[in-house]
Amino acid sequence: MKNKIHKYDFLVVGAGLIGSIAALALVQKKNKVLVIDKKNNTPIDNRTLAVNANSTDFLKKIGVWNNIKSNPQPINKIVIKDDISTHSLIFEDEIEPMGNVIFNKELFKISRQKLENLKILKTNVNLETNEISPNKNILINGQKYLFKKIIFSIGKNVTTNQRHKSVIFDQQHFSYVGFFKHIKLHNDTAYEFFTSTGPLAVLPAPDINKNKSTFIYSSKKKINKIQLESLIKKKINNSHGKLTFDKSISKFPIVPHITKNNDNFIYIGDSLKSIHPVAGQGWNLGIKDIQTLCKLLDSHSIDAKNFNKIYYSRRILESTIYLTFTSALNYLYESKISLNKRVIDLGFKILKNIKLVRNLFIKQAMGRVNLTD
Ligand SMILES: Cc1cc2nc3c(=O)[nH]c(=O)nc-3n(C[C@H](O)[C@H](O)[C@H](O)COP(=O)(O)OP(=O)(O)OC[C@H]3O[C@@H](n4cnc5c(N)ncnc54)[C@H](O)[C@@H]3O)c2cc1C
Repeated sequence: MKNKIHKYDFLVVGAGLIGSIAALALVQKKNKVLVIDKKNNTPIDNRTLAVNANSTDFLKKIGVWNNIKSNPQPINKIVIKDDISTHSLIFEDEIEPMGNVIFNKELFKISRQKLENLKILKTNVNLETNEISPNKNILINGQKYLFKKIIFSIGKNVTTNQRHKSVIFDQQHFSYVGFFKHIKLHNDTAYEFFTSTGPLAVLPAPDINKNKSTFIYSSKKKINKIQLESLIKKKINNSHGKLTFDKSISKFPIVPHITKNNDNFIYIGDSLKSIHPVAGQGWNLGIKDIQTLCKLLDSHSIDAKNFNKIYYSRRILESTIYLTFTSALNYLYESKISLNKRVIDLGFKILKNIKLVRNLFIKQAMGRVNLTD
């Protein structure tokens, strides 16, 4: 039937690690959802994802967690060190692991497979953003569709399209990611080193032998493989013993930004904001976007006036706090001003000595603090 109009609740544009999960969560809430992505194939993404405690629970709730076969690696402790303070900070929770490390590509494959099983995914669909509006006919693969709500989950691509208004914090940083084996066991511990050229995170990688880790080093300075390996060795030789690095290192651009409200659309994941990976929280914040959206559907009709505005107002505070905090942290370490060193030292002392403040940071990192709803 040529003139048939397919009516849906939601169109999710972008089936990445957030868009796919959002679609599954919305379907679980009995919404009619269609997902489109401009690409077809699984991207080659060798990164790991530090999934915090809140996001782990959410993946369990929507039936994704049990499909992960490659032994999610718990993070029981995070050790934070820098070149300024003499002591290290230790973050650990008395009740549960702070999070789990999984492979991006496995989560991607599982969630995409679920969308395909539900027959709600259309790939190789690249609509010009100007063609997309809620409650107006949209032509997809020759068929007419009508959507009540349009969710943008196209990652950082949102910053390159005039229709979306983003404020970009241009830091010109890149992240370098790789893996290595080590002689000593990692003891389910993650490390964050703040160096004067940029932060270096070392996370235990999923591997039953507990002798494999991954690193994420972010900097605006160019660094080659030999320099990077020597930096990592210097920082963790004592804790991890002799290291053997994998051959390849991947490089990712960092585009910290926040998107302004647009009453026509709902932005989630890296389309709403993307932050420096220093805190390992970008995707976890995207899960909070989805949770807020689902919660809003419990209290408001999808047709409610101001629905998109209320959603945005509930996500803007936490997004802005993370964006500002991670950007400021990098600035403090990168700049050579001595006042900054004193600010950092004071921050370290407060976190080390005041348990209440430290616990607040720990619960926030675990996604257990709700700043808005
Ligand atoms: C080095 C590094 C390490 C990180 N580690 C962590 C971590 O440990 N924990 C954590 O929480 N976060 C981490 N992050 C952040 C995390 O990777 C991102 O927040 C997350 O992947 C964003 O997912 P997304 O779905 O919003 O965007 P993307 O993964 O970029 O997905 C966007 C999707 O939209 C599609 N698309 C783009 N344009 C269009 C269009 N016009 N039409 C249709 N489809 C389109 C793309 O093909 C893609 O499938 C890290 C980031 C970096 C750089």
